Amino acid sequence: MTQLPHNYRYTKIIVTLGPATESVEKLSQMISAGVDIIRLNMAHASEQWVRESIARIRQVSVEVGRPVAIMMDIKGPEIRTGDLATPVELRMGDRIRLVVSGTVPQRDGELNISVNYPQLPRDIVLGGTVLVDSGMIRLKALEKDQLSVLCEVLTPGKLSSRRHINLPGVEVDLPALTEKDVKDLRVGIDAGIDFVALSFVRRAADVHELKGLLTGLGSKARIIAKIEEQSGVKNMREIIRASDGIMVARGDLGIEIDYHRLPIVQKELVDGCLAEAKPVIIATQLLESMITSPMPTRAEISDVSNAIREQADAVMLSGETTTGAYPLESIEVLKNIINSIQPTLDGAINSRIVLEEPKTKMLRSAAVLAQELGSSGIVVFTRSGFLAQMLGALRARNVPIYAFTDVETTFRQLVLPWGVEPFLLEFSDDPEQTILDALACLKQKKWCQSGTWLVVVTHVVANHKVIETMQLRQIS
Ligand code: PEP
Repeated sequence: MTQLPHNYRYTKIIVTLGPATESVEKLSQMISAGVDIIRLNMAHASEQWVRESIARIRQVSVEVGRPVAIMMDIKGPEIRTGDLATPVELRMGDRIRLVVSGTVPQRDGELNISVNYPQLPRDIVLGGTVLVDSGMIRLKALEKDQLSVLCEVLTPGKLSSRRHINLPGVEVDLPALTEKDVKDLRVGIDAGIDFVALSFVRRAADVHELKGLLTGLGSKARIIAKIEEQSGVKNMREIIRASDGIMVARGDLGIEIDYHRLPIVQKELVDGCLAEAKPVIIATQLLESMITSPMPTRAEISDVSNAIREQADAVMLSGETTTGAYPLESIEVLKNIINSIQPTLDGAINSRIVLEEPKTKMLRSAAVLAQELGSSGIVVFTRSGFLAQMLGALRARNVPIYAFTDVETTFRQLVLPWGVEPFLLEFSDDPEQTILDALACLKQKKWCQSGTWLVVVTHVVANHKVIETMQLRQIS
């Protein structure tokens, strides 16, 4: 029976930082508990908070002795209602006029509400749905003119200032990045973020635009495209190819598409990422009830198990760790579910990836060999992280991927891919010495014991030529 090293997990854990978790003490407990990535949600963040939080995370990560990556989740283009002096109770059948520009006189029996999307009258179809405040309030468009759209309230609720609006099925004509996003990114890049999550990605061009900006600012941060509306779903193939990973942002996605299709779209996105060897994150409401309760619902346990079985690279907590009463318990619950489901996963190696290059074809052989050896693993040396990510995408069960790099950003970014355990190591000019150092590190950190056989993927130099190799090594 194959033994996996203690604490080794295929599926990674992402938490969102907030008042419940931002203290040194809580960060230390979360990182020690095994959190892999910390997400900063820029919908509720100031520059000072970003700088202070990143510095604190880095300091705690060093103290705990575990790498943790930082993901800045930028808000992206968002349609919102305007300010209201006091919240308004909207009843079924009420008429509200969404005003996009200038002042439209208030008519009898109507309530004017401003909206920051000038193209709303052009883009909305009569009879179409407008969802306000995460879908809590549902409106139907009845009439429109150049400056406003008259709607009827179908689902009542209390409307307060600056509520988020979703327009299911409408191809919203907004820039991929807002001025706030660019400002936030400059701060994040300066403070050293590892990932950027881009909200409301509609097409590959949105990702290319962000990539151009990051390159221009000298950042190597990886781009995670959040799929949360219908255009993003429609264009998922090109978005997966353009980005460094995908987040199934089920909060908005569950509003923008028919809620009962969410599991289908989630599976399509996971499968699409598995085919392209790109990491995929399942986000939102995994353990929502744990915001106020120390135990998850049975349905939440099944939902998380499903994400593990689908072999997503990571699962993400939001409210559970920002304002929730049980952030550490939520992390423990995720770990327990992962540990229970992991051994039950189907052992087949992912055959959907098309491996083009001889060197990447060799990775599949390395995975098969390590599985054949049993209680083994693969050691890989990488600067860009590419080889380690490809190995993770092969989803070879019972084969820990020990990824050694001498690049700090790569080291932290490699906490995301499925099954990859990253190590920071100075590479020697002599490749043999680098291998010996890596094996010694694995033994010293108790990942492997004397006698363990490992498959090493590396290059050697012979007759002044670089040769790609797959080697069998035993820990001394
Ligand atoms: C989501 O909508 O599921 C999501 C992760 O995005 P946000 O938390 O920014 O709404």
